[in-house]
Amino acid sequence: MNKWLSSCIDRCTPSCEEVARLASEALDRRLTLRERIAMRMHFTICYFCRRYHDQLACMQRGLNSHGDKLGQDCGKCLCAEEKAKLKEACRGRAGKN
Ligand SMILES: [Zn+2]
Repeated sequence: MNKWLSSCIDRCTPSCEEVARLASEALDRRLTLRERIAMRMHFTICYFCRRYHDQLACMQRGLNSHGDKLGQDCGKCLCAEEKAKLKEACRGRAGKN
């Protein structure tokens, strides 16, 4: 990205701390258009915040689809194959960013 453009975006977007806070709040409420735009602009210059946001979203999807099973004792742990699949899925997700 052009250094001048990157610098301009850096001055116009919130700090990493603010973006992390917004990413967490996005789990509980719909962010305003202004907040969403600010976050997206920040993501163009900050890989770490984008990755943090994607990880939170991934956890939220997992909890939404399997959260009812939390706290239940299923009587078993993940087998080695399931652990390997989970690790591979996480790596694949990280590679898309
Ligand atoms: Zn950042």
